[in-house]
Amino acid sequence: MSKQASNIDNQIRIGRFAPSPTGGLHFGSLIAAVASYLCARKNPQSQWYLRIEDVDTQRKQKGASSAIIQTLEAYGFAWDGEIFYQSERTDYYQAALDAISKHVYACSCTRKDLQSLSSDMTYGYNYPGLCRNGQLNKDVKRPSIRVKTNNQEICFQDECQKEPFCQNIEHDIGDFILKRRGGLFAYQLAVLVDDHLQGINHVVRGADLFDNTPRQIFLQKLLGYQTPAYLHFPVATTNDGKKLSKQNHSPELNATSTNAKIQQLLKAMKFLGQTDANQDDFSNLQDFWQWAISNWDADAIPKVKTIVYQQN
Ligand code: GLU
Repeated sequence: MSKQASNIDNQIRIGRFAPSPTGGLHFGSLIAAVASYLCARKNPQSQWYLRIEDVDTQRKQKGASSAIIQTLEAYGFAWDGEIFYQSERTDYYQAALDAISKHVYACSCTRKDLQSLSSDMTYGYNYPGLCRNGQLNKDVKRPSIRVKTNNQEICFQDECQKEPFCQNIEHDIGDFILKRRGGLFAYQLAVLVDDHLQGINHVVRGADLFDNTPRQIFLQKLLGYQTPAYLHFPVATTNDGKKLSKQNHSPELNATSTNAKIQQLLKAMKFLGQTDANQDDFSNLQDFWQWAISNWDADAIPKVKTIVYQQN
């Protein structure tokens, strides 16, 4: 029997899964794919898009995009429309930057310049506004572009995390980078231009990105975009609190048998607080997905930011 859809699940959602092709999919990314997929598929009128976030061409790994797509297909995910590749969309990001040209400025500060100010200051974070008033080193050929933040609080209420979250961007973050030194667009700008142009009204992603959201809402307001609803589910971590990732040896998903794929999908469902089932209950992936869609309950996702996950 299927569960009664919660308020969150009843709505028509335009959602997306937006992996960065820095490697193949691992269990942490499977959780993200499952959560965003089911939030959308719960309502047959909703849509789910796949976007490859390869805007950072330096971090992108050869072959990772096609490996991600193949794995998603092999696990039975079906997306709507064409796949978006951020590397092909830089004209849109430039147009957005041009649209807010009065609110941005060029900055020639290097990581070293900022580090010399404070030992715990990281580049692009808590930026003290050195170039805000036009101090620009003209020898730097392609300086970064920062947005002028202001002294207002940006708050949002997440659909999973309990407490509303507020940030004063100017104070807590500082003027952040929209285009990096050398010319690559920053994640903060690319993600929100694409969310807007794809009509995304529900962003479902890991809680590691939770505190990026006020920056994105700030940019949405500046650009006159609608703010989507946000749901940040807990991220799976190792015992020492590190997010499962390729860097900390989370194995790539490589199940070949249907049984093994269903077993991993059930583990992702369980991690997301969903009803458990036995893999023998399903004879194929289609059966599994039918069950998963009808039993999906976004309200049941644990309302925490991280959960330690024992990989075996
Ligand atoms: N590309 C990001 C990642 O793989 C996700 C960005 C987002 O969902 O906003 O972590």
